Amino acid sequence: MTSHRPAGLLLTAAALAAACGCYDAREVAPGTWAVLGRRGAANSLVVRSEFGALVVDAGANLAAGEDLEAIAQKLTRKPVSYVVVTHPYGDRVFGCEAFLAAQIVAHENVRRELVDRWDEQVEFLDKTLGVPGAERVRRVLPNLTYSDRLTLHLGVKPEAPTAEVIHVGRAHTRSDSAVWLPGARVLFTGDLVLDGAVPYARDADLAAWRAALVRLARLEPKVVVPGRGEPGGPERIAAMRVFLDDLAVLAKTDNTPERGSDLEQRLRGYRRWTGYREFFETCLEAARRGTAPPGTARP
Ligand SMILES: [Zn+2]
Repeated sequence: MTSHRPAGLLLTAAALAAACGCYDAREVAPGTWAVLGRRGAANSLVVRSEFGALVVDAGANLAAGEDLEAIAQKLTRKPVSYVVVTHPYGDRVFGCEAFLAAQIVAHENVRRELVDRWDEQVEFLDKTLGVPGAERVRRVLPNLTYSDRLTLHLGVKPEAPTAEVIHVGRAHTRSDSAVWLPGARVLFTGDLVLDGAVPYARDADLAAWRAALVRLARLEPKVVVPGRGEPGGPERIAAMRVFLDDLAVLAKTDNTPERGSDLEQRLRGYRRWTGYREFFETCLEAARRGTAPPGTARP
C-alpha cells in the first residue's frame, strides 16, 4: 500500500473541516438527483420517495455525510430513510455516521468486509486518499443486508416507484452493487463505471467486471450516473468496457501498445484521467493476474 496521495483525489482539510462543500446536485429525472463529487469526493445519488429520501453512497467522512444529508433534505424536503452503500471502501462508507436514523443497506459481503477489514479501510483513506480524520471515523455498519437483489418500494401505494439494489458479484471490489430505478431508467453504478477517472483496482476481477458491465448495459438505462465524473447515457458503460478491454491487451503486451494504433491514442487519453499516476498500475496488475485469489481484499 502506497503512502502517495493523489492530487486529483485529495480531499483537502479545508474541504472537510466544518462542512465538506464538495457536491453539486443535478436533477437527472423527476425527484432524482446525481450529487456530483467535487474536490476529490465521489458521486452519490439522491432519490425522493413518498415519505423519505434514498441516498446512495455516503461520502468519505462525517462532514461529507452531513453535507449529503443536508443536500438530500433540501432537495426532497424529507428525512433520509435509506442509505445504500455500493461497495466497502471508505470513500463510500465513512459518511454513514451522519445517517444513524436511516436504514443502511449493503450487500452482506460489504458488511462482512467492514467487520473484518475496517483498519485497512482506515489506512487506505488516510494514507492513499489523504482524507483527514479517517482514524476517528466511527464504525457504522450496514444494518440491512441482502444477498442477490433487493427491491426498495419508494412509497406505500401500488404505483410507488422502486429502487432495485442489484449485486453484480465481484468486479471493482469483492462485492459491488448498482442501484437501478426502473421507472426513470436511471442507473447509479458506484465505481463499476467511472468517467474520466482510473479506478483503484487492487481487489478487482477484470473478467467478472466486464461481465457485470454487460449485465448493466442489458438494463438499457437512459441515464447512467458513474461513481466519479459526469452523468451520461449507456455510452458511459461502453467506454468502461473499452477501458477494461484495453487493460487486457496492455497486460499481454507489457504495456506497449502498437505504434499508431487506436489503443495508443486511447492510452494517451487515460493519462489525463484523474488517478492515472496512482492507480493505473493497480489496473494493469489486475489485468495480469486474471481472476483474483480470494482473501486479498483491500480497501
Ligand atoms: Zn471504489
